Amino acid sequence: MKPVIGISANYDYESSRHMLSDFYVASVRAAGGRAIILPSGEDNGLADEYLGICQGLMLSGGGDLDPALWGELPSPRLGEITPQRDSVEMALARRALAINLPLLGICRGCQVLAVAAGGSLYQDLAGDLCHMQKAPRNYPIHAIFIEPGTRLERILGQNRIKVNSFHHQAVKQPGKGFLVTARAADGTVEAIESPDHGFALGVQWHPECMDDEASKLIFKSLVAAATEVRANITGI
Ligand code: MN
Repeated sequence: MKPVIGISANYDYESSRHMLSDFYVASVRAAGGRAIILPSGEDNGLADEYLGICQGLMLSGGGDLDPALWGELPSPRLGEITPQRDSVEMALARRALAINLPLLGICRGCQVLAVAAGGSLYQDLAGDLCHMQKAPRNYPIHAIFIEPGTRLERILGQNRIKVNSFHHQAVKQPGKGFLVTARAADGTVEAIESPDHGFALGVQWHPECMDDEASKLIFKSLVAAATEVRANITGI
């Protein structure tokens, strides 16, 4: 049986719409998983409800996180925030970590993982390297350098890949139990992972938009980890 991967959706207050790019859904399907979309909302037990039907979790990309979540005042350069999305995603990440459910955070999702684990973010990057590319979404704009001996290195089988980049925030402190496992040339955190969990990985780029083998390997690894969870639950 294919494992179910829940993917968190974005929310637009203006139009009252839950939204998710098909890139995420297509990537899960291509990797052999079943994708379901998880609407946002104030947590109030929502995260438990969702995780009860998933064997894996993917936190998708999107806007900024409310800096109140890591105890900072909002910078004038803070972008659009989505409080009800923050609420359910924080709960989803914390609950998934607590029950060791495989989870992958993408872009904003990587930042959610860090903050959920007690870490912090830069609200607005101000370095010399371009992290908000004006180029096609599948175009790899900058390299990342992967720490030896990490899960990410094992997944990719290499220490340097080129990735796309659509972020103006980034992880400052990765949070309790998480390690920084890849950086860009300017030192910006591009991946984090927890060695204490079966599969807990955050990537700052958007592999769902890339066409390369490295990106496919990331989704295959998530689905493989979720398949094991499913096998343990159902015995098949
Ligand atoms: Mn970047």
